[in-house]
Amino acid sequence: MKYLAQGLLSLIMLVSSSTLLAFPKAHPVPGGIALIPLGSVQQPKPQAYFQNNWVTVLLYQQQWTAIVGLPLELEPSMQVLQVQAANQWINYPIPVQAKNYRTQRLRIKDKNKVTPDDESSARIVRELELTKRLKTTLSHFVPDLNFMRPVKGRDTGRFGMRRIMNGIPRQPHSGMDIAAPIGTPIKTPHRGRVLYTGSLFYTGNTVILDHGQGVLSLYAHLNQINTQLGDWLEQGEILGTVGKTGRATGPHLHWSIYLNQTSVDPSLFLNR
Ligand code: ZN
Repeated sequence: MKYLAQGLLSLIMLVSSSTLLAFPKAHPVPGGIALIPLGSVQQPKPQAYFQNNWVTVLLYQQQWTAIVGLPLELEPSMQVLQVQAANQWINYPIPVQAKNYRTQRLRIKDKNKVTPDDESSARIVRELELTKRLKTTLSHFVPDLNFMRPVKGRDTGRFGMRRIMNGIPRQPHSGMDIAAPIGTPIKTPHRGRVLYTGSLFYTGNTVILDHGQGVLSLYAHLNQINTQLGDWLEQGEILGTVGKTGRATGPHLHWSIYLNQTSVDPSLFLNR
């Protein structure tokens, strides 16, 4: 009995330490992540909202914990997480600190990809609506957030960089760029269901994965897409290959992760 109890204890410790490892690093800055403890696991799971968007809540160190994606465009300020628990609303403060992102200057040969013509602009609007709708996907399955790097290669564009393309300021960088030769396999970083495959104006051949409970990831500029809508992909399975389709200066993978419909720095899931 004593050995059984000890075995059980070490198993519990193992489970709780792996839960600890699987969580992203808290970094409460614009484009970062806040981890907010919401009370004991003994209580029913609370519902959390940030800027009216549903927020992922998972178990972490025996506590319900909100994993809040902080939009890149936030100013350093005191933000609020609204939580509904046991029929009452509680506001949790999130102090968002400043972060200075570097500026990246890029030269894009295809001028229409920097200053789109009317036809392209109409397409961009349609595609923005599509991706906005996809980002609201909320599946019941539980992610463990144990992401691995999808491609081996050089980091050529960090998340959050301010970007100047052909001398014109453009949206900051919403993902991580990993340079690799055309045709390099892209491995699924964490189990998920294929939510979208297709060709988009800026991101070229694109795959979007649903990891459950509002956690999504996006793979852009693919040469080939090796998966289909609705497929379940296990960690390590190949979803496509590196390319330079869409707006790209050379072959690389652009990788984004979304929490509560907001893109956050993927490196926070890797360097834990
Ligand atoms: Zn990129």
